Amino acid sequence: MPTCPYCCTTWSYKETWKAMWSFHKLKCPHCGEKSFHSRKSRLKTGSASMYGALFPLVSIIPVTLLLTGPLFFLGVVVVFAYMPKLIELSREEEPLI
Ligand SMILES: [Zn+2]
Repeated sequence: MPTCPYCCTTWSYKETWKAMWSFHKLKCPHCGEKSFHSRKSRLKTGSASMYGALFPLVSIIPVTLLLTGPLFFLGVVVVFAYMPKLIELSREEEPLI
């Protein structure tokens, strides 16, 4: 779970879930300061999203065309449920490159 870089409070799963929908700045529910996704956090969440979307294609299990839709949906749900655990915060916006 992310820790606020200003007040050093660790956010709960629910607080992180609510805050993560603002993609640019994340407002701390404890001190109100705005922080950013760290570079590492953006790389992790981006990779997880891509893997979740491509899960039916990269799965080792042979997938029939009928299962592709439900597996895609399942991959997206699992990734979004796990996403708050991947988020890390920083005081300043860090460039990806
Ligand atoms: Zn805070």
